[in-house]
Amino acid sequence: MDIRNVVVVGSGCAGHTAALYTARANLNPLVLEGHEPGGQLSLTTLVENFPGFPDGIQGPELIANMRRQAERFGAEYKLAHVTAADLSQRPFTLQVGKDTVQTRTLIIASGASARWLGLASEQALIGHGVSSCATCDGFFFSGKEISVIGGGDSAMEEALFLTRFATKVSLIHRRDEFRASKIMLDRARKHDKIQFITNTAVDEVQDVSKKEVTGLKLRNLKTGAVSDFPTSAMFLGIGHIPNAKIFEGQLDKDQDGYLKTTNYVFTNVPGVYACGDVQDRRYRQAITAAGSGCMAALEVEKFLEDQGH
Ligand code: NAP
Repeated sequence: MDIRNVVVVGSGCAGHTAALYTARANLNPLVLEGHEPGGQLSLTTLVENFPGFPDGIQGPELIANMRRQAERFGAEYKLAHVTAADLSQRPFTLQVGKDTVQTRTLIIASGASARWLGLASEQALIGHGVSSCATCDGFFFSGKEISVIGGGDSAMEEALFLTRFATKVSLIHRRDEFRASKIMLDRARKHDKIQFITNTAVDEVQDVSKKEVTGLKLRNLKTGAVSDFPTSAMFLGIGHIPNAKIFEGQLDKDQDGYLKTTNYVFTNVPGVYACGDVQDRRYRQAITAAGSGCMAALEVEKFLEDQGH
């Protein structure tokens, strides 16, 4: 069996950057695109804080550019995901659907996926008014009233984006303090279509029997008061969960499931590097993901050289 020099797991900002650098180093990387090709940037709208684009750039365009750039130098992309991994010996063995792939080094850039509230009614209504992707599903609720859950930048961004379609956006947050950056919070606060509902949790999404969202059962966390709140859609903006489950028992993780790295991108297994949101619980920006993808690629080069490849 062919042994690859490097396999990159994931095709977000970190994965594409790792692919670009390893491709330019003539390592012929194989990129396994994963469940959510393009990662979180492909689900976002205008990116205003990626240096080099003074007028901003659409997330999907930015990520498509990165891919094209990596492909130009020979990165090979495969629309597939890893179902099992054996990192106990080199070359590492990955199960990719029916295929087995062997590789001398591995770059894990599998990112993080949207977090859900975990309510049975929420899960039953995903795709029927419950969504974690405003850019994907916002359009379906044109002329309607929409709710967004969360108090971070994602929630602000979703709420602002959804004002394009909605007649009103209610931002529902469990506290009255926000993790969102001041600029995003101020923008949402100033928007005349956005109302803030704070100290409030969602207990239930209605109406499962109708297979559509008609309202939310809300609970005020200060007073305990429960109320029915009519709305046509619920968008989640409550953070993400790192995609590292398949490496369970082989790679060290922190209590929330993020891969533990030392010196930026080193995992506990020599030859395996992690970059981007799967290992970064602190910055989680497109530019930091790209930066760590670069670091992982440079370490792969160095590792292969040290191993005499
Ligand atoms: P986040 O900053 O971790 O915020 C998550 C929010 O969801 C918090 O307000 C949290 O409430 C709430 N939450 C979490 N679990 C919940 C639950 N079970 N029920 C109800 N509420 C829950 O996540 P994020 O907004 O996705 O942002 C992640 C990172 O990406 C940040 O670094 C952010 O700056 C960055 N980002 C940047 C942009 C941009 O600059 N354009 C856009 C999106 C994201 P508590 O506060 O009470 O914990």
